[in-house]
Amino acid sequence: MGDRELNLLRAVAEIGRIPDVRITALSGFYDTEPVSPVPQDPFINAVLRCEVSMRPYQLLDELQRIETEVFRRKRDVPQGPRTMDLDILFFDDLVISDIRLTIPHPRLHQRRFVLVPLCEIAPDLVHPLICSSVKEILESLPGEERVVRV
Ligand code: ADP
Ligand code: MG
Repeated sequence: MGDRELNLLRAVAEIGRIPDVRITALSGFYDTEPVSPVPQDPFINAVLRCEVSMRPYQLLDELQRIETEVFRRKRDVPQGPRTMDLDILFFDDLVISDIRLTIPHPRLHQRRFVLVPLCEIAPDLVHPLICSSVKEILESLPGEERVVRV
């Protein structure tokens, strides 16, 4: 919601300010059709890669702090419009599945709006559960949701 490109730039800057986080790649920004039962305006999505020296749960805490404190995100309508959504897609080739954190992100392989920007910065990254590269997953994805580089 709001000035989407400015918000996304701000989010990248905020992630870069987390102690012990170093951003090493950033995709382009993509205007994308919402994939949600709740009707809403298009999103802007991007994917970044960073080197971190913390555990996945600490990283999630930091990302949620940015969503809440910087973007004043309210979690009122599930899957509804939001000022910012910061998700962890992969963490090395770790596999975690519990109530608070699932890695790899459980829906990334079904989402063109994730796979297209991800493919820009990490086409050969292999999904540790699917055992295919990001590029292969994208190529075999059915569906036509709009994902346009801005
Ligand atoms: P969504 O991202 O699915 O639209 P939210 O951002 O509201 O929804 O996230 C809901 C919950 O998902 C968070 O409170 C968080 O604990 C959990 N979660 C599980 N796995 C992840 C992940 N890989 N990245 C970010 N959040 C995750
Ligand atoms: Mg999220």
